[in-house]
Amino acid sequence: GKILGNRYEIIEKIGGGGMALVYKAKCKLLNRYVAVKILRPEFTSDEEFIRSFKKESQAAASLSHPNIVNIYDVGNDDDIYYLVMEYVKGKTLKQIIKEKGPLQLEETINIGKQIALALQHAHNNHIVHRDIKPHNIMITDDGRVKVTDFGIAKAVTSSTVTNTGNVIGSVHYFSPEQARGGYIDEKSDLYSLGIVLYEMATGKVPFEGESPISIALKHIHEDIKLPSEINKNIPKALEDIILKATQKDQTKRYNSTKDICEDLEQALKQPSGSFVKIEDD
Ligand code: ATP
Ligand code: MG
Ligand code: MG
Repeated sequence: GKILGNRYEIIEKIGGGGMALVYKAKCKLLNRYVAVKILRPEFTSDEEFIRSFKKESQAAASLSHPNIVNIYDVGNDDDIYYLVMEYVKGKTLKQIIKEKGPLQLEETINIGKQIALALQHAHNNHIVHRDIKPHNIMITDDGRVKVTDFGIAKAVTSSTVTNTGNVIGSVHYFSPEQARGGYIDEKSDLYSLGIVLYEMATGKVPFEGESPISIALKHIHEDIKLPSEINKNIPKALEDIILKATQKDQTKRYNSTKDICEDLEQALKQPSGSFVKIEDD
């Protein structure tokens, strides 16, 4: 296959989203598999972007945490801009939810906690993810969470819409402030985590719509349908966490990942039977 940067031999395409294509590759120098993310050319055509891409890649590379995909290298070969990452063998959380539907309480909390720990490390280092969604959460075969794409969304643009009109990130997981195109901080990631918890618990996202704008408006204005109305097996403790994480008013939302981690741990310890609704039959 093609060799990038004199050492990364492209093996096969493993995925691709709005911004980039991802390939499995082999680093010839260290004789190990890596994942190489190649940015789509429309994002590499201006110098401002390239500076931002390198700066954000450096920021993301400064993170070192067992629940965050490691970044090994960043570079360019002619006009191909690439990012080299740890290769994760496993599935994305999106694939898992698609296959299994709603996850068991233990699995939802176990995965949620590992995402929160990844965010805690990033937020301690003043890095906001901005694109927390199940496609960016990889789960290894032995159940370990690896969050990808830290800082990448910010590298592309400081707003949620690029100059070519593409929406960055998935609007299904946007916080209300992100949906408005407003100022985004750590609390935005906590809202997105709340939506991911909702999807793990119920098997679906709370807001669907005909267009990105109609979904964005729901994040801003519409109340979330209670998870327990979709899946009555959801305990009250988990429902309370989801509702607190997805508060539209940032001041009512969780203050930090530490608080959400503690509540997730508590939710596992609740006596079984403390469900939101007691059915008559
Ligand atoms: P978007 O570009 O809109 O964020 P996305 O997150 O689905 O969409 P990518 O981040 O480009 O797109 O990733 C595409 C796919 O590549 C992922 O869904 C995943 O299956 C795979 N992938 C990404 N990173 C890795 C990795 N480090 N190891 C193994 N597979 C990966
Ligand atoms: Mg991704
Ligand atoms: Mg992405």
